[in-house]
Amino acid sequence: MCGICDAEALGGVQKTGWQRRDLMRALAGGAAAMALPACANSTNPETGREQLILIDESQLQQAALQAWAQQVQQTPTWNNRAAQQRLERVGTRIVNAAGRGGQPWEFRLFDTPDKNAFVLPGNKVGFYRGLYEMCQVEDWMAVVLGHETGHVIGRHAAERYSREMVTQTALQVAGAQINSRIATAALGMGAQVGLSLPFSREQESEADILGINYAHAAQFDVRQAIPFWTAMSSGGGSRPPEFMSTHPDPANRVERIRAYIAQQGWYPA
Ligand SMILES: [Zn+2]
Repeated sequence: MCGICDAEALGGVQKTGWQRRDLMRALAGGAAAMALPACANSTNPETGREQLILIDESQLQQAALQAWAQQVQQTPTWNNRAAQQRLERVGTRIVNAAGRGGQPWEFRLFDTPDKNAFVLPGNKVGFYRGLYEMCQVEDWMAVVLGHETGHVIGRHAAERYSREMVTQTALQVAGAQINSRIATAALGMGAQVGLSLPFSREQESEADILGINYAHAAQFDVRQAIPFWTAMSSGGGSRPPEFMSTHPDPANRVERIRAYIAQQGWYPA
């Protein structure tokens, strides 16, 4: 396991076979009512990035809350009061710095050794004991929580869902037109690599940079992102080549973050 937000992050949910795909399916009713509208592109006011958004945030939250409830039910909570307070303290600083302090947030520690964390729409942040124990340096925790907050502000779940809807529609159209087993297999491969995994590499990279900004604004030492990601990348065994994975290659990720910090002048002289 090489990075936070890995697909395994939703441990309990996955064990019971409740996957993000089911989240998509649960939402499909709402989406079916929408013809793919011409007005689907919108500019994210906080990132300035043009995004394809085909779903109302409240619909997404409703389905995500079901997934969260199941996760909480299936995975033991880590009842460590000091750790919980520390997580909430760092988390509150980060979401305040990100301009989302006025909303309710839930930060929950799960009692498994996974070095992982995740966020769901509705401001639900899951953080595993394994990752917590690695984050002795508070700035490391800030890097993780900044990254997860970046996914929220980047509207990545809604964007992911919207792309899934468009691709499914395109695949159905293509499937009806192309009657070749090879073409179908190629389409399936594309769908698997591109869609069945939680967030895209671009979204992960955007969350990295947004997270660094929030951690810096909250007065954490963001230079600590470099040893943090280096430690994360050295923990795993073999990994697929970058093209096949939604996660940025660890070495590229560290280099990109290092370059960004230096560009901002946050790097030591
Ligand atoms: Zn992520």
